[in-house]
Amino acid sequence: MTTVNAPGVPGISDGELISTNPATGELAGRFPVADAEAVGRAVGRAREAADWWAGLGFTGRRGRLLRWRALLANRITELAALSHLETGKPIADAVVEAVSAIDHLDWAARNAKRVLGPRRMRSRLVVAEFSARLEYRPLGVVGMIAPWNYPVLTPLGAFGYALAAGNAVVLKPSEYTPAVGQWLVDTFAEVVPEQPVLQAVHGLGDVGAALCRSGVDKIAFTGSTRTAKKVMAACAENLTPLVVEAGGKDAVIVDDDADLDAAAEACVWGALTNAGQTCIGIERAYVTAPVYDAFVDKVVTRAGRLTVGPDGTDLGPITMPDQISTIRRHIEDAVARGGRAVLGGVDAVQPPYVHPTVLVDVPEDADAVREETFGPTLTITRVADVDEALTRTNAVRYGLGGAVFGRRRATEIAARMRSGMTAINSTLTFVGMPTLPFGGVGDSGFGRIHGADGLREFARSKAVTRRR
Ligand code: NAP
Repeated sequence: MTTVNAPGVPGISDGELISTNPATGELAGRFPVADAEAVGRAVGRAREAADWWAGLGFTGRRGRLLRWRALLANRITELAALSHLETGKPIADAVVEAVSAIDHLDWAARNAKRVLGPRRMRSRLVVAEFSARLEYRPLGVVGMIAPWNYPVLTPLGAFGYALAAGNAVVLKPSEYTPAVGQWLVDTFAEVVPEQPVLQAVHGLGDVGAALCRSGVDKIAFTGSTRTAKKVMAACAENLTPLVVEAGGKDAVIVDDDADLDAAAEACVWGALTNAGQTCIGIERAYVTAPVYDAFVDKVVTRAGRLTVGPDGTDLGPITMPDQISTIRRHIEDAVARGGRAVLGGVDAVQPPYVHPTVLVDVPEDADAVREETFGPTLTITRVADVDEALTRTNAVRYGLGGAVFGRRRATEIAARMRSGMTAINSTLTFVGMPTLPFGGVGDSGFGRIHGADGLREFARSKAVTRRR
């Protein structure tokens, strides 16, 4: 076992990026660190590969992507074990994440031709007869910058679509999860050995910045809102277009007529899966007065049963040690402003673990309500009615996902929620459905990955008219 820095803190030694397990410090991998020139060379190689890959057409790409899909499915245990080693997340969660990622790849491969294939369009001009065609062309080279919290689903859920659309991809995995990123690239090369259609470049934030400035045809960024602003500034230099999947502060609204057991169950899972390190994790609940007390009891009972620790438990460690101070600060601030911990609290912060924490009576200007906590915490707030719940839900700058529990008014509430995705009577389910677009509004970003919109995000529409 090798320990570098504190467990989980990535380090650079002899020109190599070293990643370790956040609980034990066990070595996960060492990878050469790229500089701006190395990034430029990777993009140059990708440009040549992109022509070859685009030339295979939809059918050629589909066959290769489905072969990769089969390889990933066969080696899912190996992939999940590596993800568990590098992030600390429970093996079962790592498997579920990989299954979902493979599902996205499968859908993108099978549907790219239907969504992006050329089609005849209705064409009428008074002066003459025309025929018209709409085509979607690959962009060329896509640069992808990925976070660590879902190191399989996040990149694969984006580059599956980019590859199916005919692009080459250069991935910059998070410095916390380079081994998983490299594993994906290496297994792709096993089924597509001819050209470097998918590559990885490793390093810290400056490598991502170099990728943004490298002249790629698009940047697909997933990460925090703070970094997204830096990425946009770097992309502005070359007018490089980008899709941004950034942070969230998702809420659930629980109406009087909700099935409270189902709501509590789904809310606990939505808040605590991956130890709360989920962009679409539920961090706030607004509950109408008649069902508030019962809902709080049910959530506390369920969340209190969850176990925390190494594998085999429900919640693993906080992957990024720095994040622990943010979680602690949010809990302390909430309590200092009059909030109460009805489960967990400041004592629940036991690095590298944080036990489930449920806070009530937290004022709306507390960080725990307004800022992304990215830990296993949930605030529950009593509201007079669904109008108040919606006003409070929509008052934050983020607008990624959300959920509604109820019957009569659920569809209307979902429509009024300011979010890119809303689940009714479940949480987080939209991320696992490859037919649906994924993305947010406001500080949660713009553009869409997944589904037909996701394929179009990585293609360029082209109009062709022909006079008869
Ligand atoms: P992060 O710190 O913003 O980092 C994301 C990626 O950006 C990493 O690969 C990082 O590289 C890179 N980076 C850092 N500085 C950069 C710069 N100046 N230019 C270009 N790239 C740069 O986010 P994180 O901590 O890894 O991930 C957690 C965040 O991601 C949370 O806010 C979460 O909500 C969000 N997230 C959003 C979604 C979504 O779909 N909306 C999904 C998952 C996660 P280094 O790590 O090497 O610095």
